[in-house]
Formats: sequence, C-alpha cells, structure tokens
Amino acid sequence: MMDADFRSDTVTRPTPAMYAAMAAAPVGDDVLGDDPTVKRLEALAAERFGQEAGLFCPSGTMTNQIAINVHTRPGDEVICSHLAHIYNYEGGGVAFNSGVQVRTGGDAYGRLSADDVHRLVQPEMDVHAAPTRLVVLENTANKGGGTSLGLPLLREVGDAARSHNLAYHLDGARIFNALVREGDSPEDLGFFDSVSICLSKGLGAPVGSLLLGPKDFIAEGKRIRKRFGGGMRQAGFLAAAGIYALDHHVERLAEDHANAQRVDGWLAQLPYVVERKPCHTNMVLFRIEAPGGAPALQAHLASQGIRIIAMDREWLRVVTHYDIHEAHLSALHEALKTFAA
Ligand SMILES: *Cc1c(COP(=O)(O)O)cnc(C)c1O
Repeated sequence: MMDADFRSDTVTRPTPAMYAAMAAAPVGDDVLGDDPTVKRLEALAAERFGQEAGLFCPSGTMTNQIAINVHTRPGDEVICSHLAHIYNYEGGGVAFNSGVQVRTGGDAYGRLSADDVHRLVQPEMDVHAAPTRLVVLENTANKGGGTSLGLPLLREVGDAARSHNLAYHLDGARIFNALVREGDSPEDLGFFDSVSICLSKGLGAPVGSLLLGPKDFIAEGKRIRKRFGGGMRQAGFLAAAGIYALDHHVERLAEDHANAQRVDGWLAQLPYVVERKPCHTNMVLFRIEAPGGAPALQAHLASQGIRIIAMDREWLRVVTHYDIHEAHLSALHEALKTFAA
C-alpha cells in the first residue's frame, strides 16, 4: 500500500549520502569540548547567519527554551504571536523553565508587527506590570500556515524591540524555507540578538537544532543546555548530518514549495474546502466543512495510505518535504477528489 507521509517535514530519513557523511565524521566528547564535527557545524552555522557563535542542541524546543532562559529573568514577560510555537507547542516551557509569561498579539498568519510591539510592551515604571524583556518572532510561522515574514517586517519589528531595549530572538525552525522563498541570505538576519534554526525539519537531518548568537550569550547558553540535560557526547555523527544538510538541502526546498502550491491549487477546486491559509512555503493549512469534520477526511486518506494531520475539528495540514514524490502527490490528489463530503 501507498505510504505517503504529509504530516510533517520532520519525517524524512537520511539520504545515503547523508549517512555516508555521518559514518565518516570524526567525533569526540562534546561535553568536554572535544568533538571536532560539532565545533565545525557550530562555527559554520554562526558564520552563515552573521553571528559569533553557535550551540548544537537536541531540538528546536531546547534552543528556544535556552534563548528565553538566557534573555530573561523569572517574572519577566515575552512578546510573541498568539500562534507562536514557544507559546503553543513547547509544553508550557516558558513558565516551567524560565518562570516568565507571554503577552501575545499579531495576525491570523503568525505575523507580529512593529505596532504590536509598541502596543504590547509594558510601561517600564509601572510596578504592577511584568517587565517586558524579549520579542520572539517565528519565521516561517508554523501555525500561521508556513507564512514567510520577509526582511522589511523582521527589521521593523527589530527596530521596535530595540527602541524599548528588548532582546530580539528568531525562532527560525524553518528559516531556510523563508530565505529560499524570498531569495534572501542568512547573513541578512544579522540584526537578531539570537537565532534558533532546525536541521531536522525541511533540511532533512535526523536530529538537531542550533542556537546562534554573541559569544557570551552562547557561553551562558551552554551552561543552561547542560542544566536542561542537553549536553551530548559523541554528537559529531549528528552534527555531520547537519553539515551535509546545510550544504546540500537548502536550495532544493524550492521543490517542496512548488509541490505545496500544487496541493493548494487542488484544494481550491474542492467544494468541501472552505478556507485556506496563504501557501507561502511547504505547508498547506485548510479548513473543511463536511460530516465528521477534519477527522473524517484524515481517516479517508489514511485508508489509502496517506497521512496528514487534523489540527482540530475543521483544520487540516499538509506538509511537503524531500521524501514526497510524484506518486504520493497524485495519490493525494485522487483521494481528495473521492472524499464524499
Ligand atoms: C518544530 C519547531 C520547533 C522545534 O521543534 P522540535 O521538535 O523541538 O525540534 C520550534 N519552532 C517551530 C516554529 C517549529 O516548527
């Protein structure tokens, strides 16, 4: 039976060439500072993003949580989109790990504007208020539909943050999708105080994320990584997959975007699809009206070996990635047409 997995771009398996790079990697104990491949990955990623240093971590949740921990003190407030991953999908980590709270704003696509920052920042001298310390922007915005924010917006929000002396963190789990779509380069993002990137999403590495920032910030982050249990020993095998992904899997994200566009076009033709978020990158979020709702469509597809995620009773998500091929796409197209809504 067909096995077409459109749930997420995290489901990819390493390619043979990536496996070969992993197997050939020189490794050492990275907690003791001895793993040359981890060091190479950290330096390479930092340089590409115009940052001083990098820190290799097991997940993007950990890189975000470390960044928040280093930027804030307990009782502080963080500004983010109401759709932000740090607010919706990190297990309440902002409260649990750092004792901070969030103040949310922005639009239905996960974007935050400079006006939002000016409106949401707490008055500095008001003793009733939690001191605002940090603005977190997500690009692409996952729950917004893979929205790409574009450099002008990122700069405006950064200027607003700076005008209030707030730190500015980028949750760039899928930043390469945004860069490829916009035709921008990572070093254009040098105005962020810290950047988190995922190697395990569209780039196709099996595990790993990086936190990037100034040297002293990363040095403190390294202490927090240990505290969170994220210090890894011979992690060079994983870092090698990350280096391979950064060198070979960035430009090809354009194929995933083109495939998502095709899916979006098919959905536009279906009577039971009543709303779609703008399709900017490798995700398609759509709302259906049908008996049984989103779970019914999910089950219909699953019966034909096609997996997608139902986000709630009405919204579903299709994600494209490098293990999606033509046969998977045409199977999806056919199955969508035969759903009896
Ligand atoms: C996937 C993701 C993360 C990190 O997720 P992990 O599974 O912990 O690596 C962070 N932010 C966004 C926007 C994501 O999509």
